[in-house]
Amino acid sequence: MAETFTFSLDGGKISAHPGQSIMEAADAAGVYIPRLCDTEGLKPQGSCRVCVVKMNGRTVAACTQPAKADSVVESETPEILGYRRDLVRMLFHEGNHLCPICEASGRCELQAMAYRLGITQSTKYPYLQPVRPVDASHPDIVLDTNRCILCGRCIRASRDIDGKNVFEYVGRGIHKKVGVNGDNLADTNVSIDDRAIHLDICPVGCIIQKGRGFFTPIGKRQFDLAPIGGEEKGHEE
Ligand code: SF4
Ligand code: SF4
Repeated sequence: MAETFTFSLDGGKISAHPGQSIMEAADAAGVYIPRLCDTEGLKPQGSCRVCVVKMNGRTVAACTQPAKADSVVESETPEILGYRRDLVRMLFHEGNHLCPICEASGRCELQAMAYRLGITQSTKYPYLQPVRPVDASHPDIVLDTNRCILCGRCIRASRDIDGKNVFEYVGRGIHKKVGVNGDNLADTNVSIDDRAIHLDICPVGCIIQKGRGFFTPIGKRQFDLAPIGGEEKGHEE
C-alpha cells in the first residue's frame, strides 16, 4: 500500500498519497472544493481556476497542485470565496447566458456554482455579448457556444476517451472559442453515443441532444434538488 501523509484543509486533517492532487485527496475525504473545468474521468487541466485554494499562503489550482505533507491549505475563506465569485461572474459576462430560457437550467454547473457562491445577479463587469452562430447541422446534436465557458471537457472527452478529436480550441484571447474539426458538426464523425456528448460532460448548455430537450422537467433537475457540492457555503456579503 502506498505511503500516505496528511495535510490541513480549512483546519481539518486530510490523508493523501504521493501524486494525489489536493482536490483528489479532498474528494476522497468527502470535502468538496468547487470546480468547473474538472470532472471525474477526465485529466485535470487547471484552466477555470474556480478550485483556487491557498497552500502555505500561495494561490494554486487544487485540481493540478499535488498535495504536500504537512501543508496548510485554505479553501472556504472570505478572500478565496471572493476570488471564486469574480471568476464565476466573469464567465457570465463573457458569454450569453439567459438562464430562464436555457435547456440546461437546473442541471447547469455554472448556474449552480453561482447560487452556491450567493450570486443571483451580476452587474460588476460589462457584458461582452459575443455573437456566436449556433451549429444545428448534425441530425442529433446542437452546439451553441454562446454559453461556452472554455472548460475543455468536450475536447478532453473526445480526444482522450472517444479518440476522435471532434472538438478543439480555435482563436486566441477573447476570440478563443470551441470549434469542431470540420466545417460544422455534420462534417465530423461525432456521434450521439460519444462520451463527449453525454450530458455530464458539458457543464453548461452548449452541447444539446436533439429530441431530448427538457427530458427532466425544470424544478426536478439535479441542482433544483440539491446544491452543487452539497451544503452551500459562502453567501455573498
Ligand atoms: S448555460 Fe447555465 S448559466 Fe448559462 S444560460 Fe444556461 S443555465 Fe444559465
Ligand atoms: S462546449 Fe461545453 S464542454 Fe466544451 S468547452 Fe464549452 S463549456 Fe466546456
